[in-house]
Amino acid sequence: MNKRKIPQTVILGGGLAGLASAYELSRAGKKVTVLEKWEDVGGLARTIKVGRFAFDTGPHRWYTKSNMVNGWMLKLLGKEVINVPRLTRIYFDKKFFFYPIKLKNAMMGIGLIKAFRAVTDYIIARLKSRLFPSVLHTMEDGYISQFGKTLYETFFKRYSEKLWGTNCRNISIDWVGQRTRGLNFLTILKESVFKSKSVVSLVDEFSYPDRGVGRIADKMVDFVKKSKGEIKLESEVVTVNCGGGKIVSVVAREKGGEKVYKAEEFISSIPLNSLVESLKPSPPAAILKTAAKLKYRDELQVALFIKKTHITPDTWIYVHPKEIPFMRVMEMDNWSSRLSPAGTTTMVFEVACNEGDRVWKMKDEQVINMIADSFISEFNLIKKEDLIGGHVHRVPKEYPVYHLDYKEDVQILKDYLRQFSNLQIIGRNGTFRYNNMDHSIEMGLYAAWNIIKGERKWDVDSVNIEREYLEEKKIETVEDELLEENGRK
Ligand SMILES: Cc1cc2nc3c(=O)[nH]c(=O)nc-3n(C[C@H](O)[C@H](O)[C@H](O)COP(=O)(O)OP(=O)(O)OC[C@H]3O[C@@H](n4cnc5c(N)ncnc54)[C@H](O)[C@@H]3O)c2cc1C
Repeated sequence: MNKRKIPQTVILGGGLAGLASAYELSRAGKKVTVLEKWEDVGGLARTIKVGRFAFDTGPHRWYTKSNMVNGWMLKLLGKEVINVPRLTRIYFDKKFFFYPIKLKNAMMGIGLIKAFRAVTDYIIARLKSRLFPSVLHTMEDGYISQFGKTLYETFFKRYSEKLWGTNCRNISIDWVGQRTRGLNFLTILKESVFKSKSVVSLVDEFSYPDRGVGRIADKMVDFVKKSKGEIKLESEVVTVNCGGGKIVSVVAREKGGEKVYKAEEFISSIPLNSLVESLKPSPPAAILKTAAKLKYRDELQVALFIKKTHITPDTWIYVHPKEIPFMRVMEMDNWSSRLSPAGTTTMVFEVACNEGDRVWKMKDEQVINMIADSFISEFNLIKKEDLIGGHVHRVPKEYPVYHLDYKEDVQILKDYLRQFSNLQIIGRNGTFRYNNMDHSIEMGLYAAWNIIKGERKWDVDSVNIEREYLEEKKIETVEDELLEENGRK
């Protein structure tokens, strides 16, 4: 049995990706150090507690196409997993529409004339792409090709522009592929006739930890700490020292001052541009210029605690009208009854913005009043006296913005980082890829396994690309074999 000494590892970022690496290395018996800038772990997938209320940082359903990742997650959470029926709708013109679109509901809701236009538009879009094939670049191109112009303008354009704060022509088509992969007018038609659920976006039940999505991070942290690993909170990596084709150490800003962490291996899940910008010696000016092109969309998450239950039947609702300040709202007691005290619920509203803009800088009280007034007047589901309180959570870097040539820019940065043989980059902002939780966890597992195995056997970069085009991977048992090899199973 090969009992290789597993190298000392420092992990940058304590979101799900970084924690998955820390968890696996701990399982293999290695003491790791995780450096996390915020006051808590979990990154974008946290459950925030305010008094007796708990709410998630945005709707987080667990769904994965990978049996390996699913099995890993179910083992981690054990009996805490519940199945939640999904109901998601779109709200505009004072009406609710099912999402993913259900043909009959959509066509009845938009009226006969528009419905006729939607069908003919879709046929025209398909014919055009057959007769005059061209390369599609933008989010608008993508949606029109999948759904036709009328359905795009009705169901996708307004929401997308509210989310991104820019015209759909300024965002790459890749975002459409990642968000509505496999979904188009024909799959919706097929789903309504045959009730087939082959497309991820159409799945109508999902797994969820009954005490909130934050349990995924908490469970990993408990294990890492039990295994004598370190989780350093409020520890912001500001400098990454490199030399001789390797990362030598990182410097983190902490309460007591700056601290240096040395290791043999480094895994980074911090934003790709931050990593490049913190390298010392500094990369060439052209690389720094490319890093500066990567942008993110930020968000306020506003929780209202309410003396009522099941105000809506939905897990979440997409809210299109421009004049309503929030773009999505979710109701926590439709996810789990354990998140709010009896007789109450929490509604969480997402307000897209840019860090430092007018909305971002509004006082918490102002934001809470703005959201409460808008929700009460537009939906008429609660009264002001039903409100118990509110809370505002500001989240920088929620969504990597896929500008039109982002792919080339990301590749330039990745190629530059490849010179550091003991560095692996993982995670959503870490790889600048629109990851879901399962993708980030999968990347984290691969990076850890590569270190445990002593060779770069698992390709982190293969995660969350068009799986349909990849050979099905047979990796269900690989992690256990690895741990056995290291004598830890
Ligand atoms: C609103 C919303 C809804 C979502 N819904 C779903 C869903 O339904 N299903 C699903 O599967 N996924 C969903 N996701 C995606 C999911 O949240 C992410 O894929 C996942 O949490 C990303 O984990 P990560 O570790 O890759 O990144 P992050 O969570 O971003 O973790 C990176 C960590 O690095 C830290 N960091 C940054 N800079 C530094 C630094 N300099 N030094 C130290 N630490 C640093 C950050 O604070 C953060 O904790 C959703 C995301 C959002 C925003």
